[in-house]
Amino acid sequence: MIDSSLKDIAAALRDRKVSAVELATESLARIDAGNPKISAFVTTDRDGALAAARAADERLAAGQGGPLTGIPLAHKDVFCTEGVLTTCGSKMLANFVSPYDAHVVSLLKAAGAVMVGKTNMDEFAMGSSNENSHFGPTRNPWDITKVPGGSSGGSAAAVAARLVPIATGTDTGGSIRQPAALCGITGIKPTYGTVSRYGMIAYASSLDQGGAFARSAEDCAVLLSAMAGHDPRDSTSLERDSEDFGRECTPADAQPLAGLRIGLPKEFFAEGMEGDVRAAVDAALAEYRKLGATTVEVSLPNARLAIPAYYVIAPAEASSNLSRFDGVRYGHRAAEYGDLNDMYCKSRAQGFGGEVKRRILVGTYVLSHGYYDAYYIKAQKLRRLIANDFAAAFEQCDVIAGPVSPTVAFGIGEKSDDPVQMYLSDIYTIAVNLAGLPALSHPAGFGTGNLPVGLQLIGNYFDEARLLGTAHRFQQTTDWHLRAPAGF
Ligand code: GLN
Repeated sequence: MIDSSLKDIAAALRDRKVSAVELATESLARIDAGNPKISAFVTTDRDGALAAARAADERLAAGQGGPLTGIPLAHKDVFCTEGVLTTCGSKMLANFVSPYDAHVVSLLKAAGAVMVGKTNMDEFAMGSSNENSHFGPTRNPWDITKVPGGSSGGSAAAVAARLVPIATGTDTGGSIRQPAALCGITGIKPTYGTVSRYGMIAYASSLDQGGAFARSAEDCAVLLSAMAGHDPRDSTSLERDSEDFGRECTPADAQPLAGLRIGLPKEFFAEGMEGDVRAAVDAALAEYRKLGATTVEVSLPNARLAIPAYYVIAPAEASSNLSRFDGVRYGHRAAEYGDLNDMYCKSRAQGFGGEVKRRILVGTYVLSHGYYDAYYIKAQKLRRLIANDFAAAFEQCDVIAGPVSPTVAFGIGEKSDDPVQMYLSDIYTIAVNLAGLPALSHPAGFGTGNLPVGLQLIGNYFDEARLLGTAHRFQQTTDWHLRAPAGF
């Protein structure tokens, strides 16, 4: 049943053909069988899941269920969950049990979704491969010698392996779209400010945004609609009414995308993309044309500056955000130390992994007196230019399409000694975060080694429903999103 669409699962629950307890039990059994192979979960909460499922069954029996009532779900371990371990992939928080729920967690609890566990991630969401987790790497269910992408790789792998139908993630520079692409599922990052950051452990606050993973765009829409909404506890939360992001996921007619103008940024297609990715992307675009869309070349001349700008801004914000992990209030504290300063130094030296330390050092450097103007202010100016490029492109098109990742999933260990190579895997995703735009990745075929390829659709601000509706039309005539990795 977990392998069915949310619509079908919800209908079966409503008609009492299956109970929420049975679904939770099925999900937990799949985790028991599948997780040892891929390490998608850091924590499973069997008792909590069964209790939530019993409560969901009562609601359903009373005819009060919504579209997520009784549906098993996993949260990326960046979201604080009351009474359940929240590690953020770090030794620093390896024993941290949150005293409160993130806003997203409360909303999904209220919707009756059943959390079965917390998923593995790159430490503090810094990474593109999940290899930076203190708990060891997650493996790609399509080939366990490959990475699932990062930083939300645990959530993506869990959905791809059919351990859960839906999962949450966060995307600061590509961490929903890139693992969705590498694991062959659908993932959306909404407009910045759509999903509250309250209780979502901060990496780079001006870029961090929660979002949804599912197999299809239609299912992503259901999850995202439940996660979004104004929250006064997050000062950057948008004051917008809740909306149904699935409103354009309607039945298709003959030319369902007639009139849709898809912009293809010439810089994305010029170089960098591997041949197998290019072939799948081109074939997906041909399918979009068959559905009635037209394609037009657009230009994002400053997109090539996105990685350098991001790797100044994100570490700068991270160095400030991560200063709270000092061993005093919560998190890891060194067992032995001299004075207070020594306690800070030892606790942080022991609690943080190598990549996190690298980002803190870079961030502190670019914010320091004498370098602030040369690096940080310069990067903020580039950010504006990048956002302006998108604004100009959206005068010529309705959505922008392109690759998500330049390659299919790479080998575990292949890039872990070369941070710059690793950073380059986000070359097509990062500009979107700098501009604050919504974007999704949907399965578009397979490349070398029978590994999934994703197509990225980028929308103008608040165009989530159009993005999801567009991807839905594609998914009505293709079956890439229905393919499952062997053995799961
Ligand atoms: N890979 C990028 C980084 O390491 C993006 C991570 C993210 O989106 N959380 O910062």
